[in-house]
Amino acid sequence: MDIVRLLPDSVANQIAAGEVIQRPASCLKELVENSLDAGATFVQIIVRDAGRTLLQVVDNGQGMSETDARMAFERHATSKISNAADLFALRTMGFRGEALASICAVANVEMQTRREEDELGTLVEISGSQIIRQEPVQCAKGTNMRVKNLFFNVPARRRFLKTDQTEMRNIMQEFYRIVLVNPDVRFTLTHNDEILCDLKAGTDKQRIEAVFGKSTRNLYSKQLVDILSCNELVNIHGFVGTPESASRNPQQYFFVNRRFMRHSYFHKAVMTAYQGLLHNDNNPSYFIYFDIAPEAIDVNIHPTKTEIKFADEQLIFPILLATVREALGKFNIVPSIDFDTSGKIEMPLPKRDAVIPTASDFLKHNTAFNPFHSPFSPRR
Ligand code: ADP
Ligand code: MG
Repeated sequence: MDIVRLLPDSVANQIAAGEVIQRPASCLKELVENSLDAGATFVQIIVRDAGRTLLQVVDNGQGMSETDARMAFERHATSKISNAADLFALRTMGFRGEALASICAVANVEMQTRREEDELGTLVEISGSQIIRQEPVQCAKGTNMRVKNLFFNVPARRRFLKTDQTEMRNIMQEFYRIVLVNPDVRFTLTHNDEILCDLKAGTDKQRIEAVFGKSTRNLYSKQLVDILSCNELVNIHGFVGTPESASRNPQQYFFVNRRFMRHSYFHKAVMTAYQGLLHNDNNPSYFIYFDIAPEAIDVNIHPTKTEIKFADEQLIFPILLATVREALGKFNIVPSIDFDTSGKIEMPLPKRDAVIPTASDFLKHNTAFNPFHSPFSPRR
């Protein structure tokens, strides 16, 4: 008797969900990334019970047609790539076409979506990969995704969730990773009816200030030094913390092409630049943004896409190291940088009429000395 069979979609999707949707925070990340890929300029996030009972993401992006609204929940269904070559020209956050299929396999999902050109939008309700209803609906342009009772059919996953406090911390971490690299988008985040964040659109530095400034007495961005390096291989910009502001609990972020990434090798480059400047196990904060040709990186080495392979990482390491070093060197000359100057490092120029001392000026001001003194003669 033959025993090999294809698994039903609902089971395959649950298996995929195990990798992509590990906890409420990873679900939220996928939903918000979809909103950004859809060109949203305003994303509202509503969370209940640390995402256990509700994760809702409302965007003003391009929305979906009636057919797309249904297709979007199929496994490997995506509008973002169409062939393997596209994997090396990625400009979108998503491309694997598995997030919505995974989410609807392990939760009750209700989506309302409408494109600008459509008079009526579409409502789709799916639970455990089963369509419950699909019907026309009157709704705003964009997409409103409600994910309820995450892991309702995966008790093991539900038990594996930590306390609300821990899950909320994970949500905030994912939220920061997204909002810091999308400062041109407005975000709000509400948890159990309390508004935790309302971030207006602005510059990179204003976004950093809005996120982390509350916890410091002075302007947080005053503790940051701008870095900038442009060449044909990679553009690097961002901010590194002054050595004095280093702490046991630093904020350290790398982003590439608008995506958060971990990169232990580049982290080493940054830390090497601080050699000799840090004390007492304190570490610097940094917010470093790389822009690079999509074909020079591979995003597709892990389902959560936070591990990214750079073709030229050996070449980028010294560039990053030198860029951070140089910025810190400039900082030693100008100890504080004003937030309002949007980070331009001003070098103090000598005044026009300043008298610049010459070598003979120094000789004129010699200290007195005893020409008969010998260091070898016995002391009296
Ligand atoms: P991926 O993002 O990898 O393409 P997803 O499963 O996350 O896969 O989404 C499937 C498709 O559904 C996307 O390619 C996109 O076309 C559509 N979609 C999902 N969320 C949104 C949204 N908020 N606005 C518009 N389209 C969306
Ligand atoms: Mg996606």
